[in-house]
Amino acid sequence: MTPETESYDIVVVGGGTAGCFAAATAAREGLDVVLLERKSEEEGGYIACGDGIKGKSTFPDVVDRDRLRDESFTNEGITRGIFENPQTGESIDIPFGQTGAVVDRWKYGQILLDETDRAGAEIHYNTVVNDVVQPNGRVEGVKAVREGDPLEYEADIVIDGAGALSVLQDKADLSTSTFDTNVNYSQFCSAYREVLELPEPVDWDDALVFKPTEELGYLWYFPRSATEINVGLGFQMSQEPMELVDVLKDDIASRAEFAGATVKNKLGAALPTRRPYDSAVHPGYMAVGDAAAHVNPCTGGGIPGAAKAGHWAAEVATEAIADGDVSEHALWEYNERVQTDFGKRFAAMDLYNIFGTAHDLDELVSVVTALPGQQLVDAIGKKGTAEMGLGLKLKTIIKTVGHWDTLYELYKVQSAAGSLKDVYDSYPDSPDHFGAWRKERDAVMDRVYDVTGAEPKY
Ligand SMILES: Cc1cc2nc3c(=O)[nH]c(=O)nc-3n(C[C@H](O)[C@H](O)[C@H](O)COP(=O)(O)OP(=O)(O)OC[C@H]3O[C@@H](n4cnc5c(N)ncnc54)[C@H](O)[C@@H]3O)c2cc1C
Repeated sequence: MTPETESYDIVVVGGGTAGCFAAATAAREGLDVVLLERKSEEEGGYIACGDGIKGKSTFPDVVDRDRLRDESFTNEGITRGIFENPQTGESIDIPFGQTGAVVDRWKYGQILLDETDRAGAEIHYNTVVNDVVQPNGRVEGVKAVREGDPLEYEADIVIDGAGALSVLQDKADLSTSTFDTNVNYSQFCSAYREVLELPEPVDWDDALVFKPTEELGYLWYFPRSATEINVGLGFQMSQEPMELVDVLKDDIASRAEFAGATVKNKLGAALPTRRPYDSAVHPGYMAVGDAAAHVNPCTGGGIPGAAKAGHWAAEVATEAIADGDVSEHALWEYNERVQTDFGKRFAAMDLYNIFGTAHDLDELVSVVTALPGQQLVDAIGKKGTAEMGLGLKLKTIIKTVGHWDTLYELYKVQSAAGSLKDVYDSYPDSPDHFGAWRKERDAVMDRVYDVTGAEPKY
């Protein structure tokens, strides 16, 4: 029996942050949009996450942002980071330039889905996408099972917001375009988190707390409120596997403030800790959010990037559909917007991960804890590169006796991060010049592998 077919202008796969912002944007532009989500309406928006958001005003204006904030941002008073040194037990305070927030992730997801519906997109829950429709190279739709029944959705453009390791990319033949298929599980992080309810309030509910762990990961403690803490950790899958649940349990047990805590919720998932895809477009197809690695590869923060990418993809898709041209050239502007915005910053941050793979934890912690707080903010925060005055340099040098080679390497990596951002600023305006651009970018990467001795990541 031939499955039933439904037709839309745009099919969005996945009802996470990226998919919701894509669908809401396209629906507000007047397009006929369907969003397909494998979860039920009740479970929609339930996602493993640290719940921390930096820069809460960065969401595109296609949903009711005040409502999202009022109803799901449980702690809007985050003003600093605390970086704990696992060797000495000491910690350093890092003031954030802008305040951040911790959210109730399920509520946030539910409101986003509701706002997407209010924007005019159709949402089909309990709908698992398992293949693409691609008769002649161009992606023309997807195959799915909806509440047990197979059906096809055809569309001018499919937006893939299906999250990390999206099944659509396994199924589609993307070899005839520039779409980045140089993707491997070792470029991902495996992460796990619990939500704890505490009998007594913590006195650091204005802070995001980080503590480095073995295997290039970190533990986090993010306060949804003074008595509800999101605790979690992850490790880079290029390293030895880590017993996430046990390591977390031991750390929780070692902290006096968590005595008597009850676990309200547990969940784990993979997330991309690599540079954003070099290109995330193919005729009739665009990838957004985790499905295109739009995540800060050092902090794992992916919510703001997913929101922006979804919005930009839908804007470019809308224009392409109006022009009757959904080719790679027509969709290319989306790549350009990503790469010259957060793309360049995340690509630069990735260099610090690569640097990290070539050193052990003790060495990294010694160097990192010797850096002044602002340096760290610059390095893991907004800019992706850092400048240091002579006085601070001298202090740092004294504190890092025994690790000067590593420190020198770090400075070289910082300088490469600066060059890399310049290269990303000149991301080509069409796929015609993509090959030359990639050569230039890869030359910077070779320099980093040379300096650090790290195994090539890509
Ligand atoms: C443990 C952990 C902690 C994190 N902590 C933070 C943090 O503190 N701050 C932060 O900013 N980011 C954090 N992130 C990253 C952040 O959660 C993601 O980057 C973000 O959710 C990406 O949004 P997305 O819409 O691209 O994907 P997702 O949120 O993963 O959404 C994908 C959606 O697609 C659906 N789907 C998947 N496959 C199919 C299919 N075949 N058919 C139909 N539907 C499908 C899924 O059910 C899901 O609803 C964390 C991630 C993890 C794993």
